[in-house]
Amino acid sequence: MNGRFAPSPTSGLHLGNLRTALAAWLFARSSGRGFVARVEDLDRDRVKAADGIAAGQLADLAALGIDFDGAPLWQSDRLADYERAAAGLELYECFCTRKEIAEAALAPHGDHRPYPGTCRDLTPAQRDAKRARRPPAWRVKVPAQTTQTVRDYWAGESAGAVDDFVVRRNDGTWAYNFAVVVDDIAQGVDQVVRGADLLSSAPRQAWLTGRLGGRVPEYAHIGLVVSPGGERLSKRDAAVTLSDLAADGWTPGDVLALLGASLGLASPGERVTAGRLLERFDPALIPPGRWVWNGQRTPG
Ligand code: GLU
Repeated sequence: MNGRFAPSPTSGLHLGNLRTALAAWLFARSSGRGFVARVEDLDRDRVKAADGIAAGQLADLAALGIDFDGAPLWQSDRLADYERAAAGLELYECFCTRKEIAEAALAPHGDHRPYPGTCRDLTPAQRDAKRARRPPAWRVKVPAQTTQTVRDYWAGESAGAVDDFVVRRNDGTWAYNFAVVVDDIAQGVDQVVRGADLLSSAPRQAWLTGRLGGRVPEYAHIGLVVSPGGERLSKRDAAVTLSDLAADGWTPGDVLALLGASLGLASPGERVTAGRLLERFDPALIPPGRWVWNGQRTPG
C-alpha cells in the first residue's frame, strides 16, 4: 500500500507544502509503503499552465531527495474513471447558490456548513423549471444523520457529520472531495499525510471511500506553517518557494536542513539528507501544532 502527495499545480510549492511532502514521504517510507504523486489539476479556473508548474513542483521535491514510485497520476487524464465511479452513487441535481445555502443553513459552520437538503426531493417538474435557469451541480445522497469517525495521528479519533456533498460542480468539474477518494483508491493509498486545513474534509472522504468499496486510510494532518505573528505564510511577506529561497542563496540542502529541524529530526543548521532523516524518523518527534517560521532570508 502507499502514501501520497497530491499538489495542486497553481503555483510553486511553498515551505509549508515542502514540509508536508517531506513528512508524507517519511511516514510512507518508514512504514514500508510506496509513495505516489498525483497532480490535482481539475480546477481549470485556478490551474493554468499546469504542466509547467507541476513539473517544477516535482523537480523541487526531487531536489530535496523525495522520490516517488511510478509516474504521477494526472487528474485531468481520469475523467472516464470519475464518470464510472459516480455511476455507482446515488446523485441528485442541486440548483442552490452559495448564498441560498448560507441562508438556509441553521447555524454557521465555516466552510463546512452542512447542506440543508433543499434540492433533494424536488419533483421532476421543479427540476425542469430550475434547470432552465441554472445548470445543476450534483450531490451524493447520504443517509440523514450520518457521522463518520476518522483516526488522525495528532487529532486522534475525530468524528464529523457527512452531508449531501457536491460530487460534480455546475461547470462540470469533478469536485475535489470526490476525485481525491476515487484516486486514493486507484493508487492504493492507505495513508494520507497532508495539511491540517483538510482534517475537516476527512470524514466526508472516509465515508465516500467506504461507499466506493475502498479501505479508509489512516490520516496524519500536519500543522501548517505560520509567521511569528500567527498568519498563514503568504508570498507577500517572505521568500517561500525553493526558487525564491535559491535567489537568496539557499541550496536545497539548506532548505532540507530547515525542514528537518522543523520536524524535530535534526538540530538547527545540521546538514542532513532525506535518507538520514528517514533513518531517524519517528512521528512522535514531530512537534505537534503549527510550525512557526521566522521568514529568515539567509540559511542557518
Ligand atoms: N491538492 C490539495 C492541496 O494541494 C491536497 C489534497 C489532499 O492531499 O487531499 O492542498
